[in-house]
Amino acid sequence: MSYVPPKFYQLCRLCLSSDKTPVLSIFGSDKDIPKKILHCLSILIEESDKLPKIICLRCSERLESFSKFKETATKTEEVLNRFLTYADQHQPNSNEVHKVE
Ligand SMILES: [Zn+2]
Repeated sequence: MSYVPPKFYQLCRLCLSSDKTPVLSIFGSDKDIPKKILHCLSILIEESDKLPKIICLRCSERLESFSKFKETATKTEEVLNRFLTYADQHQPNSNEVHKVE
């Protein structure tokens, strides 16, 4: 069995920092951290894997803002597409223009 120094598990899973800034347990909070990491960073973190299960406060804030940014961009895409669909369905044709008169 390989020897893993305890310090290994005090490293931030996302940036390797080991400074003494407050850290968050990836599975310990109700913030959906593992899901956000997967969706934003495409990194799968499982409770059973053998890597550190904490992230530093800085990474947590980055993740939070990236996650919001991703949500906004996804919604924007939807709104823009909906507008195009709407515009396609409501294209004025010559008949309608005539009726309005
Ligand atoms: Zn970090």
